[in-house]
Amino acid sequence: MTEVVVLGAGYAGLRAIRELHGMPNVHLTLINRDPYHYEATALHTVAIGTNEPDHITFDIKQALPEDVTFTVATVTKIDVEAKTITLADQSQPLTYDYLITALGFESEDFGIKGADEYALPLENVKTAEAIRRHLEDRLAGYQETQDENDLHIIVCGAGFTSVELLGELVHRIPSLIEEYHLPAELIQITCLEAAPKVLPMFDQKLVDYAVQYLADHGAVIHTSTPIDEVTPTGVKSGDTTFNANTIIWTTGVRGSHVIADSGFQQKRNRVAVDPTLTLKDHPEVFIIGDVSAVPDPASGRFYPTTGQISIAQATHVAKNLRAQLDGNAMTPFTYKSLGTVCSLGPSVGIAELGDRGSMKLRGRKVSLLKKMVNDRTIMEESGVGNMLRHLS
Ligand code: NAD
Repeated sequence: MTEVVVLGAGYAGLRAIRELHGMPNVHLTLINRDPYHYEATALHTVAIGTNEPDHITFDIKQALPEDVTFTVATVTKIDVEAKTITLADQSQPLTYDYLITALGFESEDFGIKGADEYALPLENVKTAEAIRRHLEDRLAGYQETQDENDLHIIVCGAGFTSVELLGELVHRIPSLIEEYHLPAELIQITCLEAAPKVLPMFDQKLVDYAVQYLADHGAVIHTSTPIDEVTPTGVKSGDTTFNANTIIWTTGVRGSHVIADSGFQQKRNRVAVDPTLTLKDHPEVFIIGDVSAVPDPASGRFYPTTGQISIAQATHVAKNLRAQLDGNAMTPFTYKSLGTVCSLGPSVGIAELGDRGSMKLRGRKVSLLKKMVNDRTIMEESGVGNMLRHLS
């Protein structure tokens, strides 16, 4: 029996299992820190409280075929020379013939002073729930404290995650104002972005629409405003201080720290893999998703890290693993984006679809599109039952 071990049950890991299942003489093992899978692209909705964790998670064991071994454990180290995986709280390391590393992302704080201590990162379901609790506690507490900082919210960075989170936030704020009897005129939602432009990959007209939509609903984005320090009551950018008691940290992501801990050559915990998605000199080790940096043969640069691309990589890994087992040559990974969608709350968004983003959409139709994409992913990974539960 050939032992194939998959690390991580995010988009990439789950798709790899699905594509590899049923191969003769192959035994699959999946290792994941939690017993559930979460939709990383919907974490911001849980953080703002427009969605419940139940709606963006499903039980992994239930979604897997019975002959796949599933272990809930935390991976601490990968040794590619010994072909072993060390798991926390388990004395015996796990061995493999082939390894698929898909351990996902962590929040990136760039070592900025105070970020780790005082800002709230958005990384997983637990941190999303922590953001929601903090936000609601501060707003609810205002009646007692009369501290205007309790009504100020700062979102750090204006990448995809921040803009989607701001969209949910401006959608929910009116109901929070009503629920906690808050003075609407004192609420401040501020987003600070280091770069001169927001969402540079999008057409400028779509970006202008998004920024205007958020401004019309009370969220102000300051560009060219790099954060250099976070304090318990705000953030500093140069000589300017922005005050708030809720500081949400969404300035980008890096790969899992297990990558650095395992001694891989890496940058921000991403390993530059061969075009076949394997580790140099280790064709038995595949690295995909947010822990990988995959060269795009067309541009010579690395592909961006997205859920869509992780799924495509997992499908390709299954092909290349099969090729190795059959004694055939592996093929390089290539990818054509289906388009990019950025939601602005539950009912509005912007999107670029089709060849080189030629179809540009904005407004209500985009949110329907995003919902359809999410539902399709959930259905494919976990079955129709789960999709119906998520729709309800
Ligand atoms: P990102 O890197 O895309 O954006 C982070 C932003 O924070 C950048 O604009 C950066 O300039 C800014 N920033 C960094 N340091 C800063 C500082 N000190 N002060 C102020 N601003 C600072 O990260 P993300 O939004 O977390 O997204 C991570 C990945 O996930 C990306 O590849 C993204 O494309 C993908 N993603 C995609 C979607 C979608 O397709 N709808 C949604 C969420 C995330």
